[in-house]
Amino acid sequence: MRDRFLPFSRPSITEEDIAAVIEVLRSGWITTGPKSAEFERKFCEYVGCKGAVALSSATAGMHLMLHALGIGPGDEVITPSMTWVSTVNHIVLAGATPVFADIDRDTLMVSGESIKECLTPRTRLIVPVHFAGAPAHMEVILQLADDRGIPVVEDAAHALGTEYMGERIGRSGSSIFSFHPIKNITTGEGGMFCSDDQSLLDRIRRLKFHGLGVDAYDRNTQGRSPQAEVLEPGYKYNMTDISAALGLSQMKRIDVFNRKRKQLALQYRERLQEVDEILPLSDPFYPIKHAWHLFIVRLVTGRAGMSRDDFMAELEERNIGTGLHFRAVHIQKYYLERMGTHLGMLPNTEWNSDRICSLPLFPEMTGEDVDDVVDAIKEVLRR
Ligand SMILES: *Cc1c(COP(=O)(O)O)cnc(C)c1O
Repeated sequence: MRDRFLPFSRPSITEEDIAAVIEVLRSGWITTGPKSAEFERKFCEYVGCKGAVALSSATAGMHLMLHALGIGPGDEVITPSMTWVSTVNHIVLAGATPVFADIDRDTLMVSGESIKECLTPRTRLIVPVHFAGAPAHMEVILQLADDRGIPVVEDAAHALGTEYMGERIGRSGSSIFSFHPIKNITTGEGGMFCSDDQSLLDRIRRLKFHGLGVDAYDRNTQGRSPQAEVLEPGYKYNMTDISAALGLSQMKRIDVFNRKRKQLALQYRERLQEVDEILPLSDPFYPIKHAWHLFIVRLVTGRAGMSRDDFMAELEERNIGTGLHFRAVHIQKYYLERMGTHLGMLPNTEWNSDRICSLPLFPEMTGEDVDDVVDAIKEVLRR
């Protein structure tokens, strides 16, 4: 057994990252300013999008986007239940109704067919999720949406560096990325709204800072009038330059990070073929480049003779950390009690919600760490 605990994720922070943050701390300007602007530019260059707005989190981006699109009471938003709770919470907070689309059983990806079943005359928005680092089948989803004039905003929290049909996620349409510490790059906390729709970008930029036309850096340093006016009531979701400096420094290594993630993931796949009780996710059938945000497996509970929760606890006792991405949203307390959802409504989502488990995966892990995880899994299952 390992003598040191292996977490399921850990950010990769170098001395260069630290120096970049210290430089900002010493500069006299630590909130939104030149570093945030540069981070937005570099991000656009990388994903190939027309414009990007740096934010305090991806959740903030979801909130601003729902507000900007005018989503409210009487509106329905289609999204999977197999996702992080933040999107769905904000749909509810906006007074709108989340409509949950089921996922493919073996990729955890929301499909065009399941979205189609959820469409009604009240559908106002579709939020697909690119799961674990692979992309959703956007061609089909966009076709459904375009035919009906419904906007699509992609949850790209797992998809920095992901490609769909030879094109990076974020390049076209509107998408929201996250820089939470477990994501493929981090800013501590942070998010990025990307779009090829200039008027939506302008609106998000204004709404993220009180609804003013300009931010504090523009007012104080660019010779503009300090008496900026509220053009509409907005929120305060700007990214600080402390965070942006870390993001800029991390961005330089995104391809290195993703290559390392891939190498570890392929090693997991290879070694887990020996374990009948473990079912990794499948790759989608269409052409993709995987960003390997997570390495998710399903415990075949019947064969294993134990629950997923016990399996995770047993691994923890052997110094192996795991994650759960995600416990389906529609079967969480609030949703069951207040939103009229019920067990049995989304078979593939629920089947996976009971069986999935994310194994350790982060760029500084080694091949020996992967072997330790697989050995611990075998030991747990042999007992
Ligand atoms: C992490 C995550 C988010 C939220 O990102 P934050 O930056 O923490 O707000 C949204 N959706 C998915 C699928 C995520 O994994």
